Amino acid sequence: MSRQDDKPLAAGGKLFVVATPIGNLDDLSPRARATLAQADLIAAEDTRHSAALLRHHGIATRTLALHEHNEREASADLVRRMQGGANIALISDAGTPLVSDPGYRLVRAARAAGIPVSPIPGACAAIAALSAAGLPSDRFAFEGFLPAKSAARRAALQVLRADPRTLIFYESSHRIVESLADLAAEFGGEREAVVARELTKQFETVLDGTLAGLAQRVAGDADQQRGEFVVLVKGAGDDDDAAKLIEGLRVYRILSAELPPSRAAKLAAEITGAPRKALYSAQGPREA
Ligand code: SAM
Repeated sequence: MSRQDDKPLAAGGKLFVVATPIGNLDDLSPRARATLAQADLIAAEDTRHSAALLRHHGIATRTLALHEHNEREASADLVRRMQGGANIALISDAGTPLVSDPGYRLVRAARAAGIPVSPIPGACAAIAALSAAGLPSDRFAFEGFLPAKSAARRAALQVLRADPRTLIFYESSHRIVESLADLAAEFGGEREAVVARELTKQFETVLDGTLAGLAQRVAGDADQQRGEFVVLVKGAGDDDDAAKLIEGLRVYRILSAELPPSRAAKLAAEITGAPRKALYSAQGPREA
């Protein structure tokens, strides 16, 4: 296994994208700690929020705010500093910067200016949740936060309904109940899902079940509505498709006794969600 230099900051003029804990302060890696301690400056989403982490680890490096409202101007200033030889560490309030957090503009500006950008990997709520969820993890899609308003949220979910990958969403305590209800309505209550709450913290809970069951469980328990959430939903799998086709064929056979085959296939597809062409061509021998 190759190993990077133990003094990664010696050369100067670099940007380090440093992951910080998502709850448990001891989840800061030794390399992240060393990078933050040795950097000339830490660009932090919220300097007051990060002060607790830095104090906990005895890091005295100067901090500067880089958040969504000042990222454009602050990035230009930081790039100039790195061009002058400064090593800068980028952190967000929790987890990996750029993942539903600021930093994209700075990283892009640094790369455009030819400044080396190096990740110092660590916690990320989406990946931590996926690792414990027990849902298919070979392919997954990170969707970040769903829209806040229900109509927009449902429209966004409709686009994802047939996605075969495990879907990962971030959600806040204000919206977890409504979002789970919308997920159940759009994906079907029987779809398998996991709600990962307060990971690495005192009240960590990882609930699994169907979307309908989880929506009911969380809505009925105020404790399960507190804190930070990752919601993971199993992709629309072969099982679902096969079940739809079976149901589609059943409905098609009933309708085709009364209607022309093309009309029966169209209606059966609309009722069950099975593909119309598959119904039309997969029809078995009809009952006499
Ligand atoms: N950059 C972070 C990361 O790498 O995960 C995410 C930042 S985003 C602004 C914050 C959201 O991440 C929360 O609203 C929640 O959905 C999720 N999150 C962060 N920490 C979490 C935790 N300890 N348990 C569950 N979800 C968490």
